[in-house]
Amino acid sequence: MKLMTLPAGLALFALLVCASKPVAAQSSAPNIIVILADDLGYADVGFTGCRDIPTPNIDRIARQGVVCTRGYVSFAVCGPSRAGLITGRYQDRFGFSRNPVLAPNDSTMGLPVDQQTIAELLKQKKYRTGAIGKWHLGAHSSQRPGKRGFDEFFGFLGGGHRYLPGDLILKDLSEARSENDGYKTRLLRNETRLDETEYLTDAFSREAVSFVEKNQRQPFFLYLAYNAPHSPLQATEKYLNRFANIQDPKRRTYAAMVSAVDEGVGKLLDKIQALHIENNTLIFFLSDNGGPISDNASSNFPFRGQKSDFFEGGIHVPFAVQWTGHLPAGTTYDQPVSSLDIFATAAALAKAPPRNALDGVNLLPYLTHQVNTMPHQELYWRNFDKQRYCVLSGQYKRIVEKDKPELLFDLSNDIAEKQNLTGKPESAALLESFENKLRIWKQAVINPLFLGLLEDETYSRLHPDRWNISTHK
Ligand code: CA
Repeated sequence: MKLMTLPAGLALFALLVCASKPVAAQSSAPNIIVILADDLGYADVGFTGCRDIPTPNIDRIARQGVVCTRGYVSFAVCGPSRAGLITGRYQDRFGFSRNPVLAPNDSTMGLPVDQQTIAELLKQKKYRTGAIGKWHLGAHSSQRPGKRGFDEFFGFLGGGHRYLPGDLILKDLSEARSENDGYKTRLLRNETRLDETEYLTDAFSREAVSFVEKNQRQPFFLYLAYNAPHSPLQATEKYLNRFANIQDPKRRTYAAMVSAVDEGVGKLLDKIQALHIENNTLIFFLSDNGGPISDNASSNFPFRGQKSDFFEGGIHVPFAVQWTGHLPAGTTYDQPVSSLDIFATAAALAKAPPRNALDGVNLLPYLTHQVNTMPHQELYWRNFDKQRYCVLSGQYKRIVEKDKPELLFDLSNDIAEKQNLTGKPESAALLESFENKLRIWKQAVINPLFLGLLEDETYSRLHPDRWNISTHK
């Protein structure tokens, strides 16, 4: 009998060892990278069907991971969308409902300090945290990346920075006298201004690679927020030469800017591969809102609308997630997911308790199909100034706006939102249920806390000290 028990015990031991392997791998907190493009059109990467701009590196994330075919952001312009992403909460809950103006003397112009960022969350678990690129969450000293959980920052504070180093002619914000001036300041490394020599997108890619290299031996969180391909349309010959075949000069420059982002993503993925940390690095790729078609010649095909709309063209973005060995490579996930889910996913993987209640969910069980319910029964949007609201529930989407006809679409057979179903008798019950849900959601949101970019002049009139900058450079 003893001879029989020994092999059985060994087998059990072997089984435990084998079984413990994946458990151990999952229990160590993975690195997390968020690559955010800015104003990228839905149809302008390979994995969403782009034909004229090759994006082989961004497509690697799709091929090595999961494409979320219904990936949404929480707002249709830059600032509020970023506020939602970085807190995991509807930004209307804390009054971040407009694009902030550049106001370094104003501690209320930006992300309220009681709202926890992903970086602040992950710092609890000893993550090394880096923000590279566009911030746009507040320029006051209390709101800059270094005060919002980021160990390292390289980039700029406003919304639409210029790309050519020769254009960055302002020493710092003390020389700025307008919002537009803010786009021409030298870049910041933490709180120090520096002279950059590379094309902005290349500089951000270089810094991202360096951050990963430096921090490869500890869990890290990298928020790589390219401002490309947001306006102004500026590219270098290196990238422009790739698109001599595109006739429209605007589209050609846009293509070059997207190509620069793609090249940077490739360098980052190569570095992760070379360091053998792919199995321990979760990577999100998405855009912060839809393409502003006339502004940067982007395409949101096949969607209706563009940046600032609640049609699909404003809020439905390219969205892919890679985690080698943990997420099924080359698959798609077709239920609605949100940029708000990135925080919740990070919190679950790092086992870090969020300070505030989250609106997002941990996506891992859904993307691996361990759970087959929908991540979100509903998703909500609000544009306070236009009194425009949107509710998405499964295949149906309702948009209401002050002084405009109510809209109801069935996205399952009308992704271009051409058929308004509100007048149909069978829609009545659905519309009523949407109205009830929206009424409840509205109770959880507050009015905007600050004036936005659209009220730039009013803001300056009300704050004569706006450009009297001595300390918050
Ligand atoms: Ca944007």
